[in-house]
Amino acid sequence: MTTNQEILQSAIKSGSRRDLLESLADDSRTRVAFFQSESDRDIYYSRDATASPYSPIVKLFLSGVRANIDIGRIYRNYSETNADMGTVVLCGGFFYEDDGLSSNKSLRELINEKFRHRGFHLVSTSGLKALMRRDFPLYEAPGPNVDITLETPSTPGTHDGFHTVHRLYMATAFRILRNKQNPGGREGVAALLVDNTGRILAWALKNPAHPALHAESSSILAYGERLPADFRIYSTLKPCAMCAGWITTLSGGGHLVYYGQNDTTYAAARTFLDLGGGSKLLDGRRHVPGVRGIVPIYAGGRKADVTLAEMLDDAYRQYRQPHRFRNQRRGTNDLWSFRPDAVAQDPKVSG
Ligand SMILES: [Zn+2]
Repeated sequence: MTTNQEILQSAIKSGSRRDLLESLADDSRTRVAFFQSESDRDIYYSRDATASPYSPIVKLFLSGVRANIDIGRIYRNYSETNADMGTVVLCGGFFYEDDGLSSNKSLRELINEKFRHRGFHLVSTSGLKALMRRDFPLYEAPGPNVDITLETPSTPGTHDGFHTVHRLYMATAFRILRNKQNPGGREGVAALLVDNTGRILAWALKNPAHPALHAESSSILAYGERLPADFRIYSTLKPCAMCAGWITTLSGGGHLVYYGQNDTTYAAARTFLDLGGGSKLLDGRRHVPGVRGIVPIYAGGRKADVTLAEMLDDAYRQYRQPHRFRNQRRGTNDLWSFRPDAVAQDPKVSG
């Protein structure tokens, strides 16, 4: 998987004070963000580029600067996006402070006076798509041509969940997770980005080496463009604040995220998707009262995603029944009630 070093190498270009000043002087109001590293005292800056869908603050965090160089105060000349805010929540930590929206004039003065004799580095994300595609290759194949925006019930009475096709994509995401996760690894989330005809546009696993490379954000990076209208994302875990920010900022409208397991931690509380109604727990077990989707396991105090893939093993589940669900009926802690035989018998399966 892509390492922090590779991300950093692809991200830091040769920049200059003059280049940054010219960006700020641009009449078309280029969005610019920069900070002085607390480690090496150099200036790292980013700006809008024609081919990049990501806003400057996202680029600064994405490029490994948080992992390698402490971010102090970020100065910016634009109103922050959902993606910026979500990324800061997830990656900002204690080494970040937002200077708010400053005028281009005051930012130029800052550079000309306080930061005059510093080194300048341009941060870009232009190489990230190739890095993600290397990790998560996509094989060209025709899409299934299903209307993925539908949510018709499959067979009332048999299982009263959503249109069967959503279960298939979610099962695919879990299957990928099971197959690709390294033994003992922490890549425990998988996500598929799917267009409105059912074609998989990109996929990814969480990369534990970098705080911004979650499964959903990495699949968006692997796609590398603004997201089309009516896309769907199937993620094995509820999207966090950062991924929800990216999705809502980059969406062409009509998006929806299906997730296979709730995340009850702060990271995924009250996200932009929650506010806009843009995500749903894909419920395989509605007929079991109080149990929806896949129940998280907290093993050794760690978050659920560490053990998700292990949870897929029946053997594992038998000896690691989580304490908090001990009194519930056997089987309610199932991961995913998708059953191939149920689909095969379903006369209304259409894709
Ligand atoms: Zn995330």
